[in-house]
Amino acid sequence: MRPAHLDLLLSPINKLKGVGPKLENIINKLGINLNVHFLWHFPYRIIEKKYYENIHDAPLNQLVTLKIEVIKHYPSKFRRQPYKVSCLANETVIEIVYFNARHPVIRSVLPINSIKMISGKLEFFKNKFQITHPSSVENLSDIQLLREKEAVYSLTAGLNLKTFIKLSNQVLQLVPNLGEWIDERLIKKYKFISWKEAVEKLHNPEIGDTYNEKNFYRRRLAYDELFAHQLAICIIRTIDKKKKSISFKNKDKLRNNLIHNLEFKLTKSQLTVLDEIQCDLSSNKQMIRLLQGDVGSGKTIVALISMLTVIESGYQVTLMAPTSILAYQHYENIAKLINKLPIKIDILTGKDKGKKRLEKLDKIKSGNTQIIIGTHALIQEGVNFNKLGLSVIDEQHRFGVYQRMAFNYKGFRPSILVMSATPIPRTLTLAAYGDMDESRLIEKPIGRKPIKTSVLTLKKEKNLIERIGNKIKNSNDKFFWVCPLIEESQELDLKAATDRYNSLNKLFKNKVLLIHSQLNEKDKEATMEKFKNEDYRILVATTVIEVGIDIKSATTIIIEHAERFGLAQLHQLRGRVGRNNEESYCILLHKEKINDTAKKRLNIMRETNDGFLIAEEDLKIRGPGEILGKRQSGLPSFNVADLSYDGDLLEEAKLNAEKIINNDPKLENNKNLKDLLYIHERDTAIRTLNAG
Ligand code: ADP
Ligand code: MG
Repeated sequence: MRPAHLDLLLSPINKLKGVGPKLENIINKLGINLNVHFLWHFPYRIIEKKYYENIHDAPLNQLVTLKIEVIKHYPSKFRRQPYKVSCLANETVIEIVYFNARHPVIRSVLPINSIKMISGKLEFFKNKFQITHPSSVENLSDIQLLREKEAVYSLTAGLNLKTFIKLSNQVLQLVPNLGEWIDERLIKKYKFISWKEAVEKLHNPEIGDTYNEKNFYRRRLAYDELFAHQLAICIIRTIDKKKKSISFKNKDKLRNNLIHNLEFKLTKSQLTVLDEIQCDLSSNKQMIRLLQGDVGSGKTIVALISMLTVIESGYQVTLMAPTSILAYQHYENIAKLINKLPIKIDILTGKDKGKKRLEKLDKIKSGNTQIIIGTHALIQEGVNFNKLGLSVIDEQHRFGVYQRMAFNYKGFRPSILVMSATPIPRTLTLAAYGDMDESRLIEKPIGRKPIKTSVLTLKKEKNLIERIGNKIKNSNDKFFWVCPLIEESQELDLKAATDRYNSLNKLFKNKVLLIHSQLNEKDKEATMEKFKNEDYRILVATTVIEVGIDIKSATTIIIEHAERFGLAQLHQLRGRVGRNNEESYCILLHKEKINDTAKKRLNIMRETNDGFLIAEEDLKIRGPGEILGKRQSGLPSFNVADLSYDGDLLEEAKLNAEKIINNDPKLENNKNLKDLLYIHERDTAIRTLNAG
C-alpha cells in the first residue's frame, strides 16, 4: 500500500484547483500528469522586476515595477501606429506603449484615473520614460501577488506563465517533509540539502542562481532520480536472477525460411548479433539485452528473426514502438516479410477502441495472434497474453520501460530485447541500463554509402535553395528541411518552421509540406503518407521527424541552425537519409558567428558517419556551461538528471544502490527509500518488494 503522505503528490493534476479537462490536456503536453511532475519541471531562468518607489531611482533597460496613475489614452488611428497610454509615476510622465493591441482590452486593463502596479522594461525614448508591452499590470490591492523576481518555465501553446506558476505553487504547498534517504557521507561530499528544501529552492530561485547543469538543488534531485533508478534495477535483477525462464530450442524452420527468402544478405554484424541473441534464447535464463545500432543498421530484421525462434517454440512475441507512426511502419514491414509464413500478426495502439479492441484482445489472449506490434497500449491493463515469450522494445526516450514490461505478466517472464538507435558510450550504458547484456550492430548493410555532409553558413541559403530548385526540376529527389527546436517555446518553434514553409512554398508551389509537433498523430501520419506517395518534394519539419521515419526516396536533409543541435541529435537527424544505395547528402546550415564548441561539433559531423564514435566525442566535447542541447542531446533522458552532466552521480548512485540491496534486499531497514521509489514512480520495483 502506498503511504498516505504521498497521496497528494502522486494524484493526477486534475484534482488541483483551476485545472479542468482542457487545461489538463495542455499541461499533459509538458509531460506533467501527476502533481509530482510539477516538481521535475523546474525553471530555466529567473527575471528580476524590482519595485521602485521613485521612477528616478529605477535603472533603464531593465525589468522594473512602478506605481502609476493612468491619465489619458491615445488609441492608434491606423494599423502600424502604436497605442499609447499616458501615465504619471511620482509626478513624472511615463508612456505605456502597445503595438497591434486590441483597444477594448487596453481600456479595461488601464482605465483612466486608476492606480496600478506595472512591470516591464523601463526605457527612455524621445525624452520620455516608457514601457512597451508591460509584462504585468496589477491592481494596488493585489500587490501581494507581485513578485519581484519571477522564475521562467518552458511552456506550451495555450499555457501562460502566470497560470503555470499558480499551479506549480499549489503543488509546492503540498510537498511533505520526507525522511532523508541519502547517506551522510554523500550529503557531505556534495553539500546536498534536504529533499524538500531542494525542491523549494529550485522553484523559488534567487537572483544570481545559476540555471545550468551545476545548479545545486537540481543536482540533489538528479541524484535522487538516478538513485531510484539504480535501486529499481537492483531490486528487479536480484529477483530475476533467481527465476528460470523458458529455453526456446527448436529446428529453426521459420527462421531459416525467412533468411533464405530475404532479398539481401545479412551483414556480418547482424549474424554475430543474431548468434548472441539465439544463445540467450536457447538458455533457460531470461534474456535482457540491449541492441544498439545506428539508424539504418538493420535492427528490425534482427528482431524479427529472433522472434521466429520464439514463435516456433509456441510462444507469442510483441514489438513495442514509441509512436503509432512507427508501430504502423513496423507492422507493414514485418507483415510483408512474413507473408509466406504461417504466422498471424496484428497491431494494437491507442486508436483501437470498443468492439474492435476487444476482438483484438481476445485473439491475443487465446494465443491466436502470434506477433503483436503496438505502442504503449501493449502494456495497459486488459491486455493479456496466452504465452508471451519475447518482448522487443524499440526504445526512443525513456529508460525503464523494459522493467515494466517484464513484470506485466504473471507466471513467467518474457525475454526482453531493447533496441536503441542512439549509440550510447560504453561508460554510460552499463550505469544507465543496469547490467543488461549488450549487442552492437557496427556495420551498415553492404552497398550503403556514407552520407556526404557539408557545413554552410546561412548566408549561402539563397544559393542552396537555387540548387534545390534545379534538383526538383531535373530529378525525383525529395528533401527534408529541419527547423530547430526552440527550447523555451514550442510556439516560436512552430513559427520558425511555418515561416520557412511559407517561403519555400512560394517558390515551389504544391511541392512543399509542413509537419510539426503540434499536429496530432493522425495528421502527422497523413502528412507523411502524402510526402511519401505524392509529388511533394520538400518536407519542412520541426524535430518531429527525428523519430524513426523511413522514407527511402528522401536523399537530402537540410538542418537549419545546426549549431543549436547536440551531436547525438544531429546524427539522428542525418540518419533520416541514406537509407538506400543512392548517394545522399546532409547540409548543416549555421548562423554566421558560432562558438568553438559548435564549430567542433559541426566538423565532427562532416568528418564521420560512425555513430559510436560520435557518441564518445559528444560526451568529451560537452563541457559544463553548455546548456543548449540539454533536452536535445538525443540521449535517452531522465526527468531531472542528465547523463551528460550527471555521470559522476550515476556512478555514485549505482554503487550505493548495490550496497543497500545486498545488505537489505527488502528495504526493511531503509524505509525512506520506499518513498523515493514511489515519487520516482518505480512501481515495478515496489511491487517486486511487496511480492516477496
Ligand atoms: P534500423 O536499425 O534503423 O531500425 P531497419 O531495421 O529499419 O534499420 O533497416 C533499414 C533498412 O535496411 C530496411 O529497409 C531493411 O530492410 C534494410 N536492411 C536490413 N538489413 C539489411 C542488409 N543486410 N542488407 C541490405 N538491406 C538491409
Ligand atoms: Mg528502427
